[in-house]
Amino acid sequence: MNVYISATLRGFFGKKNKFNIEAENVRGVLNWLTDEYPDSKKILFDEANHLRSFIQIYVGDINKTDEIGWSDPLPSEKEIYLIPAIAGGSPNNSIISDERSKAITLDDADIERFEKHLMLRDIGVKGQKRIRAAKVVVIGAGALGSPVIQYLAAAGVGTIKVVDYDVVALDNLQSQVLHTSRDLKRPKVASARDKVRNIDKKIDFQPENSKLDADNATELIDGYDLVIDCTDNYKSRYLINDACALLGIPLVFGAIYQYEGQVGIFNINGGSCYRCAFPAPPPAGLVPTCSEGGSISPLPGIVGSIQANEALKLIIGIGEHLSGKLLTVDSLYLHTKILKVERNHKCPLCGDTPTIVQVEDFDYDDFCGLKESEGEILVEGFTAEEFAEKLEKHHPMTIVDVREPHERAILRFPNAVVIPIGQLARRKGELDPEIDTVFLCKEGKRSILAIQTLREAGYTGALYNLKGGLDSLKDIIFSHEGAWL
Ligand SMILES: [Zn+2]
Repeated sequence: MNVYISATLRGFFGKKNKFNIEAENVRGVLNWLTDEYPDSKKILFDEANHLRSFIQIYVGDINKTDEIGWSDPLPSEKEIYLIPAIAGGSPNNSIISDERSKAITLDDADIERFEKHLMLRDIGVKGQKRIRAAKVVVIGAGALGSPVIQYLAAAGVGTIKVVDYDVVALDNLQSQVLHTSRDLKRPKVASARDKVRNIDKKIDFQPENSKLDADNATELIDGYDLVIDCTDNYKSRYLINDACALLGIPLVFGAIYQYEGQVGIFNINGGSCYRCAFPAPPPAGLVPTCSEGGSISPLPGIVGSIQANEALKLIIGIGEHLSGKLLTVDSLYLHTKILKVERNHKCPLCGDTPTIVQVEDFDYDDFCGLKESEGEILVEGFTAEEFAEKLEKHHPMTIVDVREPHERAILRFPNAVVIPIGQLARRKGELDPEIDTVFLCKEGKRSILAIQTLREAGYTGALYNLKGGLDSLKDIIFSHEGAWL
């Protein structure tokens, strides 16, 4: 079996990180280690010959630190980890190799620029060189990407790749502080490049103006030290997690919704992955995305700043980070909580018998229910243009608005019947099965759920979805019919 030694303890084990040994139980492993490396005895055990309390022993993901379990037989395929309970204080846990950071030089301007890092004992010149040597990929240059990209650049991360295919829109400016009014309609990566250049010209900024997909995910992140997930949809989250785990790249995950945020670190030192925490996304349409659900302006600043801070800790090799944990932040009531995310033995990615071995073979659209939401399989729909034409020709149809009351206060659709999704099945008698019924929501996703709900309730009339929702109608109908506020 393989016994892994945490970086902080390696000095006592000939700098080796792994031993392949035969042992029947944990006691046998410890005996072997202390026989082979007698110096390790004083770091592992106290005077009374008890394991020192800062050391943790894991067999797979089972904690076997307590001596009671040391005689239990070990399953041969399991891995054993010897890790300090708090991986803090020592700058030896960096994800950047000494070889690479030693090759970095800091000039006089760097010394001045990073003075406040150099003053910190645990960062110092050594840590700053690690930051300069680091190659980080940020996926998403939106709300979370804004603080992440700017803080990584300000901290001096040497190589920053930013992947985003979107252009800056007016409704981005409420929270995406990377972009300004001048950047409207520009690609977000172009706007990000300008900001990073303004911060520090020495940074190798690599803009990638393309959409992340299973076909390009591996190629986009291969060879980098760290990936930071700043996306806003489930498909990207699973895809990024899987690609990182398969390439062995640590992932700093972040997510926001309305007033709440989450941060976690996955795929590091045999820790859990995002799938261990969340084995499947919610059904499409059930939970609004951030773009549908909204979020308070500074929330991505809070969550993204924590992501950037975690990333720097991993690079420098300091502190106790969120590996195998999920931090939840409730900005409305100022509650924070750290939840443990155990590695799941049944995880199809990092479990005992993985079924996901390359991202190209996994159908992320199907897994995230996106095929249905595109209206290709289950639900028929109209495009904004088709719908506008039907309205103009007074095509007989019942228009049902399934949005929440506060959303209708922003944009009201005239002549629409208002039925919340939860009441549809009960109120289906209000619809006329002889004429077409068209469902509206903001983005055309919840309306699909509405149609499915009615079908399941046995409604037999013709049901159509307005593809892309009211958002897609804005330029076609509302622009020349005045304000609807
Ligand atoms: Zn997993």
